[in-house]
Amino acid sequence: MKHLVKLALAASLLFAASASAQTTGFAPSVETSIQSVLPRMIAWRRDFHEHPELSYEEVRTARLVAAHLRSLRMEVRTGVAQTGVVGVLRGARPGPVIALRADMDALPVTEEGDLPFRSRVRTTYNGQQVGVMHACGHDSHVAILMATASVLAAQRERLAGTVIFVFQPSEEGRPLTGGLGGAQRMLAENVFGDLTPEVIYGLHAWPAPSGTITLVPGSFMAGSDRLRITVTGSQTHGAQPHRGVDPIVVSSQIIEGLQTIPSRQMDAVRSPVIVTIGSIHGGVRYNIIPDRVEMEGTVRYLNPDTRQDLYARIRRTATEIASASNATAEVSIEENAVPVVNPPALTARLRTALVSALGEEAVQTDAANMPAEDFAYFQQQVPGVFFFYGVREPGTTLEQAAPNHNPRFFVHEPAMETGLRAMVAAALDRVGGVQN
Ligand SMILES: [Zn+2]
Ligand SMILES: [Zn+2]
Repeated sequence: MKHLVKLALAASLLFAASASAQTTGFAPSVETSIQSVLPRMIAWRRDFHEHPELSYEEVRTARLVAAHLRSLRMEVRTGVAQTGVVGVLRGARPGPVIALRADMDALPVTEEGDLPFRSRVRTTYNGQQVGVMHACGHDSHVAILMATASVLAAQRERLAGTVIFVFQPSEEGRPLTGGLGGAQRMLAENVFGDLTPEVIYGLHAWPAPSGTITLVPGSFMAGSDRLRITVTGSQTHGAQPHRGVDPIVVSSQIIEGLQTIPSRQMDAVRSPVIVTIGSIHGGVRYNIIPDRVEMEGTVRYLNPDTRQDLYARIRRTATEIASASNATAEVSIEENAVPVVNPPALTARLRTALVSALGEEAVQTDAANMPAEDFAYFQQQVPGVFFFYGVREPGTTLEQAAPNHNPRFFVHEPAMETGLRAMVAAALDRVGGVQN
């Protein structure tokens, strides 16, 4: 019994401590706006989760976003990069222009689990019947940025500067049919109009502990390229391999050979690299050696300076291994995203703003990650910082949490409040005429 009382007391203290830490960072009027938008933010996220849309098909999402921004009396442009939406909030006082970005697309993943608002959407993707799911948390990004727009719009009279809200389509890679991904296409279509933001911020759901922000200076996320290799041999009987050239055996040698690039050829510390072959197709029958194998994969790298050298090694490894067996290998490498690099001084400034809004323990740092994010293209034009907000349910370990893109990827909804507070703090640090 005593033990239970102690536990309850500890829990209430913990709660009080976290509640007070959460209210220290903002002026009372901002805090009031945050509190009042929280239930709507969760409702928006559940609605987007239940109605996910694939890349460049975010029609419904974009319509809801645009209606919301208009209801806040913002200047709104739609159809930027097909389904993208841009809102401009002009503060009453002069000041800097900044941009905040959220991505809107879902993935061809069939949702598992029993959320009451789970997706039941089905589609045909790349010739296969699949579900559609917000398996990367972009539903929460859209809801958080909509809520940020509400909070900042309520402060319009006190804002010193302009905030551009960028709702981006198609973050999850370029279309299969070719063309640019969402960030590049928005930039190509003059996303900022005649405004020049001095900084851009973006966040991403990540299975770090709920209630935390992960902010990493320097290299943060990898560059990503799509690799295709076609190995051509000569078709023959499965029992007479010497009468042909076996592209299946050659392909297996190439796959092994490619693994020696990260492990034996690149500097493991300065140029970490991953080469993954994710699909391989060849042959129609067990006793026929086919004439062709096609494989596809992804190349990830953190150091842009060694990228051309990396490409050369991939080409040489594939073509020369093939040629040793009198086969040929055709290699094509297509850029998917450049690395996300957070400028150290900007990141340090953002850390100070986030620590004062969220408390010291909530703002963590970590190593770089090999997934990619096309936010990197915005960073090429505007100084920008990208960070994670943790969405892992309290009491679960990283091993227990489903990774992004998994059919059980899960966003612990209370974490979205931390994401919202981080976005608001990041913005007010620049345009915050609002004083405590
Ligand atoms: Zn993703
Ligand atoms: Zn994502």
